[in-house]
Amino acid sequence: MALIVQKYGGTSVGSVERVQAVAQRVYKTVKAGNSVVVVLSAMGKTTDGLVKLAHEISQNPNRREMDMLLSTGEQVSIAIFSMALQELGQPAISLTGLQVGIVTEAEHTRARILHIATDRIQRHLSQHKVVVVAGFQGISSTGELEITTLGRGGSDTSAVALAAALRANYCEIYTDVPGILTTDPRLIPDAQLMDEITSDEMLELASLGAKVLHPRAVEIARNYGVPLVVRSSWTDEPGTWVMSPKPKPRLLVNLEIAQPVDELEFDTNQAKIALLRVPDRPGVAARLFGEIARQDVDVDLIIQSIHEGNTNDIAFTVMTPILNRAEAVALAIAPVLGSDNGVQTGEVDVMVEKNIAKVSIVGAGMIGRPGVAAKMFATLAEARINIQMISTSEVKVSCVIDVQECDRAVAALSRAFEVEEEGALSRELLAGGQGGLGVPSGDRGERGAGGEKRIIHFSSASSLPIVRGVALDMKQARLAIRQIPDRPGTAAKLFGLLAQHNISVDMIIQSQRCRVIDGVPRRDIAFTITRMDAEVAQKTLEQAAAEFGWGEVVLDSAIAKVSIVGAGMVKQPGVAAKMFEALANHHINIQMITTSEIKISCVVAQEEGVKALQVIHAAFGLAGSERIQVPA
Ligand code: ASP
Ligand code: MG
Repeated sequence: MALIVQKYGGTSVGSVERVQAVAQRVYKTVKAGNSVVVVLSAMGKTTDGLVKLAHEISQNPNRREMDMLLSTGEQVSIAIFSMALQELGQPAISLTGLQVGIVTEAEHTRARILHIATDRIQRHLSQHKVVVVAGFQGISSTGELEITTLGRGGSDTSAVALAAALRANYCEIYTDVPGILTTDPRLIPDAQLMDEITSDEMLELASLGAKVLHPRAVEIARNYGVPLVVRSSWTDEPGTWVMSPKPKPRLLVNLEIAQPVDELEFDTNQAKIALLRVPDRPGVAARLFGEIARQDVDVDLIIQSIHEGNTNDIAFTVMTPILNRAEAVALAIAPVLGSDNGVQTGEVDVMVEKNIAKVSIVGAGMIGRPGVAAKMFATLAEARINIQMISTSEVKVSCVIDVQECDRAVAALSRAFEVEEEGALSRELLAGGQGGLGVPSGDRGERGAGGEKRIIHFSSASSLPIVRGVALDMKQARLAIRQIPDRPGTAAKLFGLLAQHNISVDMIIQSQRCRVIDGVPRRDIAFTITRMDAEVAQKTLEQAAAEFGWGEVVLDSAIAKVSIVGAGMVKQPGVAAKMFEALANHHINIQMITTSEIKISCVVAQEEGVKALQVIHAAFGLAGSERIQVPA
């Protein structure tokens, strides 16, 4: 007998018939000998309707009252659902967040879960009842009891947190699609269903706009090792399993806020090659990285900063043992890149920097918490360490620094984040494939059998698909600040300011080109944020620019970001080249590039976003033969 948490989304309980159909499914699961906790969203589009209602009364409704209002949607669905189970002869009881004891921060409309009391649920389960819990809501208990909500889409997070707290055997997320697809089927009808995905890959895709799972739910699944599956409410198909590595031991207190960083990595074996003033036109990155791939040179980070005039800078890092080969390729191709049909259009410079190191903070708990990256930059600034390159992903922030300063950086970061360094270890493991903990294989171990079922087996990275999925984010804007002084503390100041406004930054790119103005070396910094935050960010930075003597602040909202995600792309030359080539073949200009170990993102013009997604999805052979039914 297993303990299973099943979560059903709004569409799955959107009508009386659907409630009855889902109740049948729960009933069958119980009859098969399992204990079931059900977590529900509000019926259909109830929450949207309530939001609309509030906005008819107020432009800017009070957040406490919003929580009072929105939390009612789930109270309706759980009561109705319990009645449906009781009609089938299945004892059931509905409980709100307050009745369970889902304790959250006192942050209305976006509270994070701190702790979940399990005694009442356990007691009802032992009386053979199905416990039906309201998703998306909790209570905060600083002073008086207050109803809180977790943010839109938050009942996934409620479900996985409950599964962690109850030590459930697994958590099933039931929805109106058959599982997790290689991309958005509304844009690409032959997107394919995945059998499984690692939690790191899922975190990237979820926060890149794949809406099937709330990213915070994936963070909890990863941190507590909760086996998680996304399935259709209407079929018995197996769906998509989200595989997590064996978790580090963690207490069930401060569930969503404890230890956003649980590992430090460093690598002193890196070198950087930068190409300055390459022409800003389609096909240049494809040409460069195509040649690099043909010479079998494996690049690590790639960064292309925003253009200046009509040229770009492109920089990449490689492991020092292959630096000579990489440099030879760069030198050979530089004159070719600088000419158009044989006519020289400008001088491309190649710059090599040997003495660099990469330090990274790693952990699932950084999404929506801009303070974490800001703290890394501030820690390096306090140690007077200059940051040369920054690469961000949902589970990792990496900074390229001078190799001489690596030891000090690691010591300072390990104090600041209270974690042990794992540099040597992860370097060794990285050489063999995926860093740290290894990656789950298709074998899901003992899950589903009796006893200890939270064990998942791992295999080497070689069995992983290189690219698991492709995502398009059309809701981003790009901000650039020209001519910011290149000295320790700049990134800390800039991203610290944004963190104070709770603005999360996505891609961060410093230009390679350096200009000395008034005796101070200066570079441009560009980054992307959600468009919703663009105005506040722009105002904040314009003030800062005036105060600190930075250059112009430039906002561009007409951008799209396309990304490929895959844990198998580590140590695979040619993946980036293939992506850039797909864009080049369709004359799509790349405005910015950033990479992390499991992700490559390009910014393109907004009107080319969908096309970019389609050609990349096709280039990696992700299209399936079956069409996925997309509900209206
Ligand atoms: N009902 C809430 C919403 O629509 C929570 C959820 O569905 O996950 O955002
Ligand atoms: Mg939802």
